[in-house]
Amino acid sequence: MNPSASQPQVDTRDGGLAYAQPVPSTTIPNEVPALFRSTDPNWLLVEEGFTLAREHEVESLFAIANGYVGNRGCLAEGSALSAPATFIAGVFEHPQTPGAVPQLMTLPDWTGVRIWIDDQALSIERGQVLEHRRVLDLRRGMLWREWRHRDPHGRITRIVACRLASLSDRHLLLHSVALTAENYSSVVRFESSIEIDSGAMTFPAPDWKPRRSPERPNVLPLVVCSPGVEVNIAFAVMGQLVASTGTVGERVIDADERRIVERCEMNAEIGTECHLHRLISVYTSREKPKPFEHALTHLNWVLPQGISGAASAHASEWQARWETADVEIVGDDFLQRALRFAEYHLISAANPEDGRVSIGARALTGSAYKGHVFWDTEIYMLPFFTFTHPPSARALLEYRYHTLDAARAKARAAGFRGAMYPWESADTGEETTPKAIITPGGEVMRVLNGEMEVHISADIAYGIWQYWSVTGDEEFFSQCGAEIMLETARFWGSRGTIEPDGRYHIRHVIGPDEYHEDVDDNAYTNLMAAWNLRRGAETALLLQGRWPERWRELAGRLQVTDDELKTWHKLADSMFAAFDQQTSLFEQFQGYFAKEPVNLKSYEPRSVAMDVILGHEPIQRTNIVKQADVVMATYLLWDEVAPEARAANFRYYEPRTGHGSSLSPSIHALMATRLGDGHLAQQYLKQASEIDLGNNMGNAAGGVHAAALGGLWQAMVFGFAGVRTHQDGICLAPNLLSHWRRLSFPLQWRKSRLQIAIEPSAVRIAVEGAEPVRVRLDGGAEVMAAPRQEYVAERAQAGWNPWRMLH
Ligand code: BGC
Ligand code: BGC
Repeated sequence: MNPSASQPQVDTRDGGLAYAQPVPSTTIPNEVPALFRSTDPNWLLVEEGFTLAREHEVESLFAIANGYVGNRGCLAEGSALSAPATFIAGVFEHPQTPGAVPQLMTLPDWTGVRIWIDDQALSIERGQVLEHRRVLDLRRGMLWREWRHRDPHGRITRIVACRLASLSDRHLLLHSVALTAENYSSVVRFESSIEIDSGAMTFPAPDWKPRRSPERPNVLPLVVCSPGVEVNIAFAVMGQLVASTGTVGERVIDADERRIVERCEMNAEIGTECHLHRLISVYTSREKPKPFEHALTHLNWVLPQGISGAASAHASEWQARWETADVEIVGDDFLQRALRFAEYHLISAANPEDGRVSIGARALTGSAYKGHVFWDTEIYMLPFFTFTHPPSARALLEYRYHTLDAARAKARAAGFRGAMYPWESADTGEETTPKAIITPGGEVMRVLNGEMEVHISADIAYGIWQYWSVTGDEEFFSQCGAEIMLETARFWGSRGTIEPDGRYHIRHVIGPDEYHEDVDDNAYTNLMAAWNLRRGAETALLLQGRWPERWRELAGRLQVTDDELKTWHKLADSMFAAFDQQTSLFEQFQGYFAKEPVNLKSYEPRSVAMDVILGHEPIQRTNIVKQADVVMATYLLWDEVAPEARAANFRYYEPRTGHGSSLSPSIHALMATRLGDGHLAQQYLKQASEIDLGNNMGNAAGGVHAAALGGLWQAMVFGFAGVRTHQDGICLAPNLLSHWRRLSFPLQWRKSRLQIAIEPSAVRIAVEGAEPVRVRLDGGAEVMAAPRQEYVAERAQAGWNPWRMLH
């Protein structure tokens, strides 16, 4: 939804901006009807009470976002520890202090509402909290707060508040606060504000005159300036206070270049409800040349729909998204909620309408890792979008296409060819990994990842290939994806050297196991690089056959020759792999097997990462692995690894892995279940589902762990349901835990959508869409499932009975 043809024209006659058709002040008051609130506890995340020390963590978990704008779930009136923050995808500041790297801007908080009762501020820290809960409605993407409070004068006030970042109109934010004076009558005053933090690198827009009109929205114009980057950001806001009796409160605006404060007050009679409704619009010059005007026009356009119109459009969009994504699990309520929590945050993180941004490690829920994008996106989050909402997946991959030149420049600067993607990136696609960080122990530590964690180039290629195989999006592949496939292959063709042993070696790298730096021939990197080289050559063949013109254009521009393509095959075939035929083990890197063995069990129970316990340098001498590395390669390249090697490597590396990254447990759950170890799978699944919900990494305060959330989805779909894809269809190898009664989920395959339901003794599938889908059960028969039909296969003594069509 966007302001379009029907929007009122902006009238600039009075020197500033105003409504062409002033909206009467009674337009906003629509309640957010209670029916908008889900009642099923499996769709709700509830935080009961108030524990100041947990506040930062709760703010992350209860964040709302729509891929464009995100907001932490802080208390509207603040508390001693509140850290409110609003983020806009792609809006980074570029500090010029030595060693500093770009960071996602913390923008002014739009949710601030303070309340006075007879001039006494209502505060959770003064008086008695009778009831307090925050409820995140995962189904509808709304954050609710219920609070009953007795103040030091004995007055009891009830607050019910709700906020959302619209999924149907990404520039729209909504905030509604209802107050009931339970045992008193008094003047109540609400003060809502949007204010620039005094330390922020922002300036008011020079040519913008703040308005002070109680009937009209007001705009807070910001200019974010840091060297080389200037972004104009506008927050337009319109608030209104109404009582359930219909009385409209006084509204006074106090706006200057740094803030908009709206003060509303009324006489609250005992038992009556007063509602403060606020609609907020946000635009930046990244999307619109005149964001200040646009925000105002947008709000002007939205106002007549009121709160309920905006809320219901948002809720319908969420419903549509859940229809293509919801993973249902019967028999495990905690896991059910954890899965919905994961999908809620993933859906909230992506913006299918913007191919110039990607998702940072903590999405738009916190500032850890400075909003930077890692391999987390392509390897951990992307599959969720590819299989449930291809437009979001496509936009994420477009970000890599738009930053391809920066990746080429990085390769050139390092003396390589093709595209060397940055380990961490922000808005421009340049390398943004810090050169040094301060460790928890206070030491300055050099960070080599920006130079050495090169596997990301292959990870991006992998994400593209998977997206293309699953969706069949020819346009994206031929126009964008193919070029990345070729350029990353070319990078790998230049990154290593054929050495006297006749093998291609890739030295001086960091693999996914970051506990070991500057290693030679990391197995994950080499296997993925070989895969990338082969797929690069295959891409050329595909282009030649299907899009010859595009091939001519690309081959001409990039100067790709037949000889180079042959070299890619040759290098892939000669890639050094320390694979022992006897044991089926890959050595994680040259010299790994000689590392000092450590018995991780002897450190249990432990709540701290092993590198913190042992130290950054000492851990390099040990064989402790940070996270799935060889195991990750055997998962991603499943069909290329012999079954005995998958099992042998898992059995070998699993006990040596310290899970020092949130990315690790989900992949271990996935592999354990695929290898038939239900007990271990269950253990890792629990760990994966508690990363944010149980704060088991201890750092959820910095934002939710978006990759871990994507990993949890993969563990369910690719692990327990055992989904694998092939050129011509889908294969299922289900392995439910014994207490699960049903696992069901939708899956996008080419132009159709498959609904899969797995029960202990049967698998059911149904296809929606234009084309039939070939589905095979591991060790069972296959069926060409026709649209609008349902099929079932029952478990037999060994394997599966043939598929039957249900009538
Ligand atoms: C991460 C690296 C990252 C570095 C700097 C470390 O904690 O493990 O992947 O590059 O921080 O952001
Ligand atoms: C992990 C990386 C990850 C990064 C950002 C690090 O701790 O080791 O694999 O990309 O965090 O989530």
